[in-house]
Amino acid sequence: MIVVKDPVCGMVFVKEDAAGQTLYKGETYYFCAPSCKKSFDSDPQKYLAAFNDIQSSKGSNEINIREDEKE
Ligand SMILES: [Zn+2]
Repeated sequence: MIVVKDPVCGMVFVKEDAAGQTLYKGETYYFCAPSCKKSFDSDPQKYLAAFNDIQSSKGSNEINIREDEKE
């Protein structure tokens, strides 16, 4: 029995119960509902950033995008 985690909502469930799956950059991600898969497919980076952040504690990357730096 393989337990997987939905990167969108964070739900943990048995792989066989997944409502959908997506292959992204060589990794397969499983979703609890079609709507979660849809959200992921529309913006994988966003969810993976949060997903990886949870898995590997806190590593502050370059999140600060300066828009007010106009000369
Ligand atoms: Zn979900």
